[in-house]
Amino acid sequence: MCHGKVLDITYHDLAKRKESVLMFMAFKKTPDHLLDAAYHRQKGTINGVSECIIMGIPMALGTGLMKLLHRSRPFKAPLKRPLLFKTKRFQRDVVINCDDDIINKQTLINSVMNRLEFPSFVFFIVSVSTINGYWSNEELLRRFNALHRQFPRQSKLYTIGNSVQGRPLFVLQFGGQGRKFAPKVKLVANMHGNEVTGRELLFDFATYMLTSERSRVKDVLRRTQIHVMPTMNPDGFVSAQRGQCDGVVGRFNANGVDLNRDFPGLDGNWSRRLQPETSSVARWILENKFVLSMNFHCGALVVNYPYDAYYFGEAHPIASSPDHDVFVSLASAYARRHFNMSYSVEFEGGITNGARWYPVNGGMQDFNYLYTDCFELTLELTTCKYPQQDPRRLEWRMNKEALFGFVASAHMGVKGVVIGANGASVDIVVVGKETKNATCDAFGRFWRLLEHGRRYKIYAVSKDGAKRSESVNVHLRNRRNKDAKFIKLVLR
Ligand SMILES: [Zn+2]
Repeated sequence: MCHGKVLDITYHDLAKRKESVLMFMAFKKTPDHLLDAAYHRQKGTINGVSECIIMGIPMALGTGLMKLLHRSRPFKAPLKRPLLFKTKRFQRDVVINCDDDIINKQTLINSVMNRLEFPSFVFFIVSVSTINGYWSNEELLRRFNALHRQFPRQSKLYTIGNSVQGRPLFVLQFGGQGRKFAPKVKLVANMHGNEVTGRELLFDFATYMLTSERSRVKDVLRRTQIHVMPTMNPDGFVSAQRGQCDGVVGRFNANGVDLNRDFPGLDGNWSRRLQPETSSVARWILENKFVLSMNFHCGALVVNYPYDAYYFGEAHPIASSPDHDVFVSLASAYARRHFNMSYSVEFEGGITNGARWYPVNGGMQDFNYLYTDCFELTLELTTCKYPQQDPRRLEWRMNKEALFGFVASAHMGVKGVVIGANGASVDIVVVGKETKNATCDAFGRFWRLLEHGRRYKIYAVSKDGAKRSESVNVHLRNRRNKDAKFIKLVLR
């Protein structure tokens, strides 16, 4: 007879002893212990509480504890051996090259089994999505289409034209429903076919904006019209080579033209025949009154702001625009909110002036600013242009806050309406920034991004100088990106 009290039995205590198969099954890692027992041909007897409960067998008397104590034999130290799952010998990395974009789950399992030398019992869990390749152009369109079908009233899928080889340049539009003064933001990726990261990042962004239950996301979505173009150069993407971090294979369109050198610059050379992709996008930019835009590239980790070219013979290394302060503010905010961009060794604060880095003529960024009221920045997402492994999940995590904040900043500055305006024949003048006037749309509406925390004097004037509004003084204090300051200007 003995007295005693069991204070605690931990899983680890039990795991050290390999005596009762059924006992171990009752605790954590049931399949692991079952596998071990099977592998070691271990036998189990049913003579304790746990075993009876597990097997569903009624117990003969009491708890069975007495019987157990009564039958106890001299203590024999148990064999120390690690779990099979922790045994180095059985741990193999199986590397499978997935050349196809979509891999069949059964093919994957067969492939793994063929590489293993002990296939009689194998447990493995594979997340197919983590080893999927990049989405093909067709898959990309299918995914965006599915997202649109999931939110048919909140979104619109439209095409602005076709590539040289006839692939659609499609855009998903969402947000800002029923709001006359919702600013328009566009996000364009994959202009260089071999710079791929932005394609799926934009899908993740669109999904986030449409599905998030967070009030801040719903708020921005309600007030902002967003247009997302995941690929501007689908032909280039087809010829690009996965795993090539540098180089130019796939960079150009099917006619061998660099689309980011093909836009009309300040030389005003509109007579030159543009590539189909460039002319479709240029028309899209001119016909919509976009306010803010991002152009997604790869090959570095930096935000690049206008100008990309030296138009005015600047002696200073920076080719700065009249809205240099706004561009620096937007670029810095992105870099700061990005996971690690602002720690860049190469670029101070993770930002650079385009021309200072290297001058580009005919770039899309400058086209936006020179010919419309849209402020575009160029984002270099990853130093490798076409990584072997799809960095989608990581990139989304690193860019999510920055991208969301960027889109929300479309509400900085002022917006409003000009009464007595005849379509776009009016200039909105910000005193001190006279070299960059904003214009009205056909309804007399305008949007003008301006830096926070400053005072501005703004007036409207007809292009022929015959009519002019009174000046309005505004003090912008909109750090949280609530609606832009609304002003009404009456031409007399
Ligand atoms: Zn590029």
